[in-house]
Amino acid sequence: MPINDVTIVRRCAKCRYEIGTLTVKKDNMRLMTSELAWCEACGSDVPETRDIAEREETVAAEQASYPGNPAVADVSSVEFRRRRNAGISV
Ligand SMILES: [Zn+2]
Repeated sequence: MPINDVTIVRRCAKCRYEIGTLTVKKDNMRLMTSELAWCEACGSDVPETRDIAEREETVAAEQASYPGNPAVADVSSVEFRRRRNAGISV
């Protein structure tokens, strides 16, 4: 199913304060803007940056789908057995 709407996170280009989000049609997506936005943290009009919010959510969802404490633990237990079998004190 195609995703038609994307959520854009607007941030202050100076301090990264989140100014707000907006949802736009993917076809109309514009990440570049020359308009200034009001940043409360800076207390002035600032250039804004725009990022696609779903990017981070997708990464978080992927990480959450890993069972338990993944790769690192497996590698170390394999390494543990390998060393033990080789007679190396661990
Ligand atoms: Zn700011």
